[in-house]
Amino acid sequence: MTSGLPYSIGDVIRRGELHDRYGGGRRGGISSPADNPFVFIFTGEEGEKYGYKDEFKPDGKFVYTGAGQEGDMTFDRTTNTGRWNSDVRDHDENGDELHLFEKSLIEDAHVVYLGQYSCVDWHRETLPDKNGDERSAIRFRLEQVIGGSADEEPETVTEEELWEEAKESASDIPSHRTSTTTEYETSEAVREYALNWADGVCQGCEEEAPFTNRNGEPYLEAHHVHRLGDGGPDHPDFVIALCPNCHQRVHHGRRGKQFNRKLKQKLDDRRGSP
Ligand SMILES: [Zn+2]
Ligand SMILES: [Zn+2]
Repeated sequence: MTSGLPYSIGDVIRRGELHDRYGGGRRGGISSPADNPFVFIFTGEEGEKYGYKDEFKPDGKFVYTGAGQEGDMTFDRTTNTGRWNSDVRDHDENGDELHLFEKSLIEDAHVVYLGQYSCVDWHRETLPDKNGDERSAIRFRLEQVIGGSADEEPETVTEEELWEEAKESASDIPSHRTSTTTEYETSEAVREYALNWADGVCQGCEEEAPFTNRNGEPYLEAHHVHRLGDGGPDHPDFVIALCPNCHQRVHHGRRGKQFNRKLKQKLDDRRGSP
């Protein structure tokens, strides 16, 4: 199964551009264009304000909270939010491809493409609504759709090849692997590229990694500059290696966003250099 969208996982796109091309509502977490066989899902910090979040689980599945800011969530097609939730639940039956995007941390009005997914199942959970009142929320379980063909493993690995491999694994996932394995390997290849490039030095504070891992290699963590979470599919151009301190600083520190912008600048410079 191949995706009908021209994007690769990790691409950063202006949300308006997506809707200019394919239609669909320009706001909100779920958008289903009337004239194109797509359902777009957007995840971001929205839910975190209310005390819950969409997230990648260790099995590689993504848990997404349905539409509806107040009261119980429904599949009632006479309301906008109910119709959107139905569009996600029934996308397969309706012949619609489901595509997942995450709001960019850095660029306003931009989103990061996370790939094509399918809705495996859904359940209800009691979660707070925007007023802090408990309500019945719909939680969808999404699984990445595997497509494309496997490439030969390169014999000697140059930095370029590491990048290719990382990019390849993010956008064109071999079909003979299980989704769980692929999920792991996707992150692994991108991680490896970032760590190789950093060569044992944190790209935030420019200090040597504070300790070595069990294999005796410098311990650094992979961080995606556009994304809130670090799980799931990634793009090598936006992933940077950080020491644990700097990594926590980006996500939890005061002025973390500003620090994150500096890291993005560093990645931009890296791409600009030969
Ligand atoms: Zn650091
Ligand atoms: Zn991170």
